[in-house]
Amino acid sequence: MEQPKPKTTGCKVCGNEPDDMRRGLCQKHYRRYMAKLKTLEPAEAEAFEAKCIADGWLEESRQGQKSTKDFDPFDDLVAEVQAEFEEQLGPKAEAAKQAKAPAKTPRKRKAN
Ligand SMILES: [Zn+2]
Repeated sequence: MEQPKPKTTGCKVCGNEPDDMRRGLCQKHYRRYMAKLKTLEPAEAEAFEAKCIADGWLEESRQGQKSTKDFDPFDDLVAEVQAEFEEQLGPKAEAAKQAKAPAKTPRKRKAN
């Protein structure tokens, strides 16, 4: 069996040349790559990305940035806002919120 080879023009997987290529892949195949990436631990994800680049399936990130470890600034922001509301509104708001979303306990970042 012959190993599949990356295409030399267009998307490395399918050879299409849409306008919105990302890192050498069309949207479909970039999404496919990202989907795989998200199933991995951060260390594995880095190795996976490096291998994709080494084997020619992915272009190196232009900014030379580290592969994203699924960094989500909203996690922290929402916790901050929730903590602030708790302080302002007291136990009543707390109770209302717990009725709505019982699963999560908000992290408190600021003590005062
Ligand atoms: Zn493609």
